[in-house]
Amino acid sequence: MTVPFLDLAAQQAEITDEVLPVWQRQLESAAFIGGPEVDAFEAEYADYIGVQHVVGVSNGTDALELAYRAVGIERGDEIIMPANTFIATAEAATRVGAVPVFVDVDDEYLLIDPDAIEAAISPRTRAIVPVHLFGQTAPMAQIAAIAERHGLIVVEDAAQSQGAVSAAGRAGALGTVAATSFYPGKNLGAAGDAGAVMTDDAGIAAIVRNLGAHGSSVKYVHDRIGVNARLDAVQAAVLRAKLRRLDGWNAARRGAAGRYAQLLAGVDGVRVPTVRPGNEDVWHLYVTRVAERDRVMTELGAAGIGVGIHYPTPVPFTEAYASLGVVRGAFPVAEAAADRILSLPMFPHLTESQQQRVVDTLRATVR
Ligand SMILES: *Cc1c(COP(=O)(O)O)cnc(C)c1O
Repeated sequence: MTVPFLDLAAQQAEITDEVLPVWQRQLESAAFIGGPEVDAFEAEYADYIGVQHVVGVSNGTDALELAYRAVGIERGDEIIMPANTFIATAEAATRVGAVPVFVDVDDEYLLIDPDAIEAAISPRTRAIVPVHLFGQTAPMAQIAAIAERHGLIVVEDAAQSQGAVSAAGRAGALGTVAATSFYPGKNLGAAGDAGAVMTDDAGIAAIVRNLGAHGSSVKYVHDRIGVNARLDAVQAAVLRAKLRRLDGWNAARRGAAGRYAQLLAGVDGVRVPTVRPGNEDVWHLYVTRVAERDRVMTELGAAGIGVGIHYPTPVPFTEAYASLGVVRGAFPVAEAAADRILSLPMFPHLTESQQQRVVDTLRATVR
């Protein structure tokens, strides 16, 4: 029995009957960009997250860039973010001319470490970007206190945390502004690229909307140099159908995570992920840690088990960011984790027998 890393087809199958008639209407009415379906999704997602404003955009990277710009981040400003994130968190900063300042994470949850944030603050720091990595919320109470003390803006990267809840509220409603991605593989995924910016601040929302439509709110009146980063109506139709199922799917992921924890309890040599107190994890990824990770990964792959590494190289050590000149050893936790992390299959439709097969194979592999 082979087990895929992610089975998106099972998700699509649940929504196809609901989405096709909407797509048919959209094709007939030629309403492709923005329009009623986008408006409805934005309102429903705002309601779900618990924010005043959601602006649908083209993808998560654009969402981050527009969020950074809308809060006034400018060329030369420093943005503090974790070293272990998807590169987009940093790319978007670089695109606005800001400097990503990477910091280490805590060893238990691999989330941005508040002490490391505090140590990295300089006179040029403007913002902190907590990334709610793997599906659980970063320590927002501590981060909010640091931001308050130093007059910094908090921009959440909520791309891996749709539906995640912390003691303070839902991921995406915990900073000045938040960006998310609806890349197909995320917990809430479109049928292509899509993303959104969330905020309670009407002014920030208005700037994001304006920037994403060529700096224009009235046709051919351009207030600023923007970009083209709008949400397509066909994606909004898919997102509305999937949003209705998100809590159920996240609950299924939690069930699968609980089962993995049970099945792996007796397996020596596999460190299982844990949930930060006060968090309700949505398990975007199930990230274990093992010794000899590359060998284990190769053997699992050969046995038909889909696995991944999130991420093999901390962002500051990618070729893309070589010019920053960050030296090895700067992020002891993130660097050590990068050699051991191994993401196991995780998706709502993962079955008990698939999980049993994953664990049996892993047990035989870690030895
Ligand atoms: C997926 C992801 C993004 C980028 O989203 P895209 O839609 O692929 O541009 C940003 N940050 C994190 C943490 C992500 O996982």
